[in-house]
Amino acid sequence: MKTYDLIIIGAGPAGISAGIYAKNFGLDCLIIGENVGGLINSAYKVENYPGIFNITGKELSDKFEEHRKHLDISLRKERVEKIKKEEFFEIKTDVGDYRAKSITLTLGTETKKLEIKNIEKFEGKGVSYCSGDCVLIFENKIVAIIGGANAAVMGATMLAEKAKKVYLIYRKDKLRADAIWTERIEKIKNVEIIYNANVIEAKGGDWLEEIVLDNGKSLKVDGLIIEAGGAPNTDLIKSLGIKTNEYGYIEVDRNQATNIEGVFAAGDITTGSNNFRQIITACSEGAIAALGALNYLNKK
Ligand SMILES: Cc1cc2nc3c(=O)[nH]c(=O)nc-3n(C[C@H](O)[C@H](O)[C@H](O)COP(=O)(O)OP(=O)(O)OC[C@H]3O[C@@H](n4cnc5c(N)ncnc54)[C@H](O)[C@@H]3O)c2cc1C
Repeated sequence: MKTYDLIIIGAGPAGISAGIYAKNFGLDCLIIGENVGGLINSAYKVENYPGIFNITGKELSDKFEEHRKHLDISLRKERVEKIKKEEFFEIKTDVGDYRAKSITLTLGTETKKLEIKNIEKFEGKGVSYCSGDCVLIFENKIVAIIGGANAAVMGATMLAEKAKKVYLIYRKDKLRADAIWTERIEKIKNVEIIYNANVIEAKGGDWLEEIVLDNGKSLKVDGLIIEAGGAPNTDLIKSLGIKTNEYGYIEVDRNQATNIEGVFAAGDITTGSNNFRQIITACSEGAIAALGALNYLNKK
């Protein structure tokens, strides 16, 4: 089996950036990631990435992929199931086995699930975890979104273009999305923001019909989208003994190195960049992680 200098696991902004820098450093590297572009694919619009403004998340993701192809960086769209450290790092995916001298983890986060009675019964039947996929499904319909950060507020803005009515339900008394989005949403006529409320129950037949809030109200809806933030994707790495903080984010030093020799991490999955989880910080961490891997391999 071939031994790569570096295998990057995850193909979001952090993984693609790590790949670009690793390629430029002359490392023999491979990216393994299920979803190229990662979370940016669900961004309605990205307006804070320098030089490219007013672009949809999907378009930016496509540009990242174009850049990867342009540099001829190898990519496998596979799911990593196991990582083991022996003489080298042994990586098992749903398709095959790979080996590398060093690895960079850029696995990102997974959407948090909430405790709502009957929620699982309606997943895929009115309940979703991504606004981006739902715009056409809820055209001329009534939809509720849970959350108060960028993903939820951006999602509500996007859905409001097609939906008849959008409820934005947030557990606190003030949205925590960036001002650019909160100012916009407050002006949209078919969006109603419900503060200080949690959804506690989902009701319906074959499809979701109603949600019950803990403020005593119920709302008739055709859909419910949960955008309640992410939790780190760390299941895969527990067996490697990688140190995380209490919330499961990987602790990294200024070289994006973890506590395990030869293992680097970048992007939303880490405690880096002052916990500021954005495209630009994921890219920056990816670049630094590639440099960390280069220095590590040169010293070996
Ligand atoms: C709705 C929404 C809107 C946003 N808007 C903005 C914005 O406007 N500006 C901004 O800067 N940021 C925005 N963000 C945040 C931004 O998308 C993230 O900070 C960024 O994508 C993090 O990049 P990442 O590479 O660390 O992780 P991710 O983008 O999450 O990528 C993780 C990668 O790991 C892969 N992966 C995970 N597990 C496995 C596995 N077991 N095997 C193989 N591959 C795996 C995934 O498939 C994916 O390729 C937004 C996020 C959301 C949800």
